[in-house]
Amino acid sequence: MANRRRFLQGLSSLSLLGVPASVGRAFGATPKRDYFKELNIRRFINAGEPYTALSGAPMLPEVVQAMEYAATQSVRLSDVHDAVAERIASRIGCEAAMVTAGAASALGLGTAACMTGTNRQFVRNLPDTTGMKTEVIIQKSHRYGYDHAVRNCGTRFVEVETRDQLERAITDRTVMMLFYNRNDAIGQIKAAEFVELGTKHRIPVFNDCAGDVPPAENLSKFTKMGFDLVAVSGGKGLRGPQSAGLLLGRKELIRAARLNGSPNSDAIGRGMKVNKEEMLGMMVAVEAALKPDQETDWREWEKRVKLIADSLAPLKAVKAERFVPDITYRVPHLRISWDETAVKIAPPELIRQLSEGEPSIEVRSSPRDCVEIGVWLLQPGEAQIVARRIREILKSAA
Ligand SMILES: *Cc1c(COP(=O)(O)O)cnc(C)c1O
Repeated sequence: MANRRRFLQGLSSLSLLGVPASVGRAFGATPKRDYFKELNIRRFINAGEPYTALSGAPMLPEVVQAMEYAATQSVRLSDVHDAVAERIASRIGCEAAMVTAGAASALGLGTAACMTGTNRQFVRNLPDTTGMKTEVIIQKSHRYGYDHAVRNCGTRFVEVETRDQLERAITDRTVMMLFYNRNDAIGQIKAAEFVELGTKHRIPVFNDCAGDVPPAENLSKFTKMGFDLVAVSGGKGLRGPQSAGLLLGRKELIRAARLNGSPNSDAIGRGMKVNKEEMLGMMVAVEAALKPDQETDWREWEKRVKLIADSLAPLKAVKAERFVPDITYRVPHLRISWDETAVKIAPPELIRQLSEGEPSIEVRSSPRDCVEIGVWLLQPGEAQIVARRIREILKSAA
């Protein structure tokens, strides 16, 4: 039996190498039924980022176990909501927390919370904002696609650039101040000063940190800094359920956010439903992120970066350098660039060939003059495959 299993696993790694195998298993545990194969859906190796359009990050095995555990058991949802929130808040060290249907959902519910407070009539009225404050102050350089989630509640952005402009923009219609963590470096008002201004004028300050874990310390950094609300994605760096996220922050605001969300039916957030599976999955993902031996993961990522870099070393015109992004996914990555007079292929063409090849590989969205590889979402054995495919393509272009 054990031999047979080893034999089947051997076959499936052959199928990854482009050798057809009758066994469909390529990723994760051997499924009883190979759904993606059955549906002719092509899998890929994620050597990039947990983009939503690429179905996010592969979930941690312990997250899958927690979700599977919850799936067949009946419990009262508010019991799970309360207990999981309390556990998450105490692990992270913030006042309160709630599991949402993603970071965008957390942005929407947090904004609604600032607008309605615990006024139940207001909760029922949204998106009719009569009687509510509706202006959200944001730095011009912090406008981004996901701010639509904030506008969904009927708010209007007031854009500012300097501290002085921000203070003058505050009126009795100001309901919230929004900060986009990833753009901290390009805004004139930095995180701590933004918080200071919100506190001074008694305006709730919200930080969108959706993709900024790892490092795990970012889970608590911004509520500690004084942000009243923080949004985090569950299915990005946390490797929890892709359709989940976290809203962290002040107790009274989280209470108001809960009123605006599911299971309450007469609420703007009813469509952002979260069930027990995501709640338990999210809790376990947070526990995993805060586990004591963080260095083990880091060492493994370094090993993978080195493995890919080393395999490219014989190609003299190719440069492979390790780097760590400044804010989002602050873990070891690899940047590959080359002299295009010696290796006659443009970086976007390498990316295309990796994606269309066998097995299919997706990388980070990279600048035009290089290819950036993420190694932290790779499953065991995949770093070797990524290394081999990149070497093959570059070598044949040399
Ligand atoms: C991904 C992302 C979101 C949305 O997160 P979901 O968990 O997919 O809802 C919001 N804000 C930023 C900055 C993001 O990167």
